[in-house]
Amino acid sequence: MPVMNPQPWVPLFKKLDASLRRSSCKTVFDPGTRTAKVAMAGRALELMICPKSRYGDGPFYKKTPHLVVCVASKHGLAPADAEHLAAYLAGLEKVEAELSRCLEDVSPESAAKPGEGVQPLIQDLTLRQAERVVGKLCLLSLTMRCNQACLFCPVLRDVPVLPEAKIMSELAAYCRANKALLPATSFLITGGEPTLSPALEPAVRLLAKEGAGSCTLLSNAVRFAEPGFLDAIWGSGIRKLFLSFHSHQEKTYDLLTGTKGLFPKASRGIKEVLKRPFFEVTCNVVLTKRNYKDLPGLAALLAGLAGSKAKTKTLNLCISAMNENPAWDELCVPHAKTAVYLRKTLKEGKVPMTAFMGDCAMPVCVGSLYKASAAIVPSARVDTAAWYAPAGWAPDSSPVPTGFLRVKSEACRKCRFDPVCGGLASRYARRFGVSELRSVKG
Ligand code: SF4
Repeated sequence: MPVMNPQPWVPLFKKLDASLRRSSCKTVFDPGTRTAKVAMAGRALELMICPKSRYGDGPFYKKTPHLVVCVASKHGLAPADAEHLAAYLAGLEKVEAELSRCLEDVSPESAAKPGEGVQPLIQDLTLRQAERVVGKLCLLSLTMRCNQACLFCPVLRDVPVLPEAKIMSELAAYCRANKALLPATSFLITGGEPTLSPALEPAVRLLAKEGAGSCTLLSNAVRFAEPGFLDAIWGSGIRKLFLSFHSHQEKTYDLLTGTKGLFPKASRGIKEVLKRPFFEVTCNVVLTKRNYKDLPGLAALLAGLAGSKAKTKTLNLCISAMNENPAWDELCVPHAKTAVYLRKTLKEGKVPMTAFMGDCAMPVCVGSLYKASAAIVPSARVDTAAWYAPAGWAPDSSPVPTGFLRVKSEACRKCRFDPVCGGLASRYARRFGVSELRSVKG
């Protein structure tokens, strides 16, 4: 195994964490992004810290003379985190020049040696609200390879992952270290396309043997029609499947997935799944301007694939919105347009629908404008720092200030959802404005 350079940041992080014992921080170096990552024990707050010289545009909580501090928590910055964050930033100021120098000194070569597992095998996405754990969730990334190239995919394919033997030893170590919480932990097995990884079955078997709460496989279903494949993953202990399926029309499916000829395979794969007893299946469609009109047809196709003899425990349709990515401008669609097709799909009721997902999902006030779709609009979403657009804001004449990925309107300040709502993605607001937003009373 290659030897890492001496790590000057280790004593520095210890010094930093010790000076902030009140906040119970743990600072670690992340070789993939060459940043310091900070978790506050017992809190959901996670920060990412990097030198200013390496930072482009994006959301940030604070720029100090030497560093940029971003809130990296999946749930964003909860109101109760403010005090802990203020204490942390005060401590950080004392060592920021030294920390910046350390992080600058890390060369990409020393940080990202092939085979050293730059892509973290396990990412803990545990959700907490008011210091209470409301869900223990881990992403398990077995491979970054994929047999599709979806236009909206944010995954970095060239990131190396651990070799299989190392995956198993790391996973076993994780299970040992987290034994008490394991029965309450849900693992999402992801990638790339995890069905391409030879570690899939052994990894899930290990988690089942160690008593993990549940394993959900995220897949495009293309390999499911291969003889014996589904029986093997059922046998390994997978009970839940989250399957990407973006259109019932082959041409649109090919366009969105960047493939040719995989639609019949994926459809057959889903049909095979629906014949198997006990699998819980959620089909996920990412809404874009190329497929939003397909929603009712897609639901009808899924109902047809299930047929009257479907033995599957559950079948749901889940709507996801794209996160910010380079294809956004080409693929985005206004909420008002998608709402028409959401309403039609819900009304026809061919397949039950679960709540809208993704950072660009409709805010609850917009969803309530389109009453039929309100049922699947989430009431709490990302709450990274948002810019409040002044009344009469015109995106063409006044840009969103640098660093803000979310935009709200001044009306949001009076809205009951303001503390937990992320408003609109800034790209959406730049393109379509904020006139849809209405403060919700109560
Ligand atoms: S905070 Fe703003 S965007 Fe969110 S629901 Fe309320 S009015 Fe809508």
